[in-house]
Amino acid sequence: MSEKKKASLTTRILIAMILGAIVGGIIGAMGNPDWATIWLTEGIFRVVGQVFISLLQMLVVPLVFVSLVCGSSALSDPKVLGRVGGKTIALYLLTTGIAVTLALGAALLFKPGVGVEAAAATPASIAAGSPFTQVLIDMVPKNPVAAMAQGQMLPIILFSVLLGIAITLSGARGQRIGAWFNDMNEVIMKLVGLVMRFAPYGVFALIAILAATSDFAELKKLGKYVLLVFAVLFVHALVVYPTLLVLVGRLNPWMFLYKMRAAMLFAFSTASSNATLPITLETVRKRLGVSNKVASFTVPLGATINMDGTAIMQGIATGFIAQFYGIELGAGQFLMVVVMVILASIGTAGVPSVGLIVLAGVLSQVGLPAEGIAMILGIDRVLDMTRTAVNITGDATVTTLVAKSEGELDLDVFNDPEAGADFE
Ligand code: ASP
Repeated sequence: MSEKKKASLTTRILIAMILGAIVGGIIGAMGNPDWATIWLTEGIFRVVGQVFISLLQMLVVPLVFVSLVCGSSALSDPKVLGRVGGKTIALYLLTTGIAVTLALGAALLFKPGVGVEAAAATPASIAAGSPFTQVLIDMVPKNPVAAMAQGQMLPIILFSVLLGIAITLSGARGQRIGAWFNDMNEVIMKLVGLVMRFAPYGVFALIAILAATSDFAELKKLGKYVLLVFAVLFVHALVVYPTLLVLVGRLNPWMFLYKMRAAMLFAFSTASSNATLPITLETVRKRLGVSNKVASFTVPLGATINMDGTAIMQGIATGFIAQFYGIELGAGQFLMVVVMVILASIGTAGVPSVGLIVLAGVLSQVGLPAEGIAMILGIDRVLDMTRTAVNITGDATVTTLVAKSEGELDLDVFNDPEAGADFE
């Protein structure tokens, strides 16, 4: 019975999305009357949508901490830990590199910024991100409790890995503590399951607000840019990842994508890879068959340092802004954008719109006017949602590949379409 009931959660979320789009679309088409604005942006819809996102975010810090301590204490051999870490980071950088190169190439080829009228958006003041050296320094938490209180992912990851290693080195005492963390991990996973039941309501409210408040005229004005970002995002998700899964992992990519659909829907509705983290982690473990040892390390790391979808938007936006201002990007600048986008994604939390903030830093580094961002600000939300779905798909792709190469992927689970379906 539970199989049937839970298998329908993904369907319920999809229905909620469609209903939300219809309700929001109708309200938007009515010109957003006062009563509707109060309902949507201040009233019950806002409450339900925000409560849903907060519930997901509530899980992130305890989940990452506990599951990563379990994972790193299970990977007791420091050599294995180093190897898994090395492979993971290399693959994350590689996929982000491919993403931004594809995006810049597409921008050069299709020229989305040529002949665009300036949008009416008011210039936004956008602060640039921190320099890369500071990211390295900030990675070590002076105070792990403060890092947790502020939800800073990289410091939490580092602290958890070190604690896991210490647990392994502590003999019988370590085993007792390790067992407690393992039990706690199961309890938190239960909590994830409880929160997921609320998802259809949250998704309905979020999509309704989006549909009612989107400025479709603005979307049309920037049509070429929007379409190009969508197209490259789709190519990356449906061609690049499947190719890697087949060539590197000898895995069936369609099975992978099929099992990722619930997580992608979550990412799409929340526009936050961090908020989606509990679902991504559950999906790769239960649906794809990755061991907790690998997943607990690679997924939280990916949610922070791997943002392929974001890199795609940044690559195309850079080309768009350069073309709009009539500035030619030379080969040196091209390369600089690639490197900057890769570095900038490290240390950037996966939260809504952060990609635009980081873009401001990238633009100023390559000498392009950061005010150009004001033009794409108004239409970014729907792109943010889509690229977040790509971001978490990238995290799951790399996780699956690393697990396969380490013998930590259960192929029976991976190849069984029904395996772990009860969690959805
Ligand atoms: N919203 C994205 C994420 O959470 C980041 C971004 O592109 O703004 O992954």
